[in-house]
Amino acid sequence: MKDASESGCERCVVAIDGPVASGKTVVGEALARRFGWRLFDTGVMYRAATWQAQRQAVHLDEHETVAELIRGSTFQLVPCPDQDSTRLDVYVDGVDATPHLRESAVESGVPTVAAIAEVRALMVEIQQREAAQGCMIVVGRDIGTVVLPDAPVKIFLEASEEVRARRRAAEQNGGVDEESVLVATRRRDARDRNRHASPLVAASDAVTLDTSDLTLQESIDIAEQIVRERIPNLSASGDAVPPARG
Ligand code: C5P
Repeated sequence: MKDASESGCERCVVAIDGPVASGKTVVGEALARRFGWRLFDTGVMYRAATWQAQRQAVHLDEHETVAELIRGSTFQLVPCPDQDSTRLDVYVDGVDATPHLRESAVESGVPTVAAIAEVRALMVEIQQREAAQGCMIVVGRDIGTVVLPDAPVKIFLEASEEVRARRRAAEQNGGVDEESVLVATRRRDARDRNRHASPLVAASDAVTLDTSDLTLQESIDIAEQIVRERIPNLSASGDAVPPARG
């Protein structure tokens, strides 16, 4: 991973926030590749915390117990061993949680765990420490507002509910119908936007990019332009665009 001097910028961090399936991860990964940076998808941490609570048979509605468990657990972020990946894998108490993070129980439980203020405080602390390690694209829901309020570049990705549901359904190779994905997307969005602790909202100094009518390539190119405008000395490195996923 590059450090700031190699990339020609003082503070090499880009915060990307947005709702479910707005393209955060795939755009973030493409930027990380172009710049030779790491992608830190903070959603994996809330997913790993959820997985940890579920495997320890803690009821997710017992917020105090969940928080206590998470306080006593160790979360380590480790570069993905796949040479092509810019991502970080997450280990919980020494066990790689990555293979479990998209399981349906985790998928449905994660908004509950992510709404627990004490869990968020613990996660934010780890995220801030990690983001100080080198040049990074940091993706989530509260990066520009809470985790890295001083980030030199903040992008808030949006897309209509219908477009996002279509993308999500396509990711699952037609295994689900778009209508039920739309309902689930709305439910998850509502929970993220209306929660008391760090609700999903664009930072006042974020650039909002609506990708509803853009191709993936166009979204990546515009996001890159936004970054380069704010970090003018950024050196170029590689133009590979990853396949659409995430
Ligand atoms: O982005 P992803 O779908 O993996 O995130 C899973 C969940 O984690 C989100 O629905 C949200 O509830 C939570 N999250 C969060 N803050 C972040 C990242 C994710 O609350 N920074």
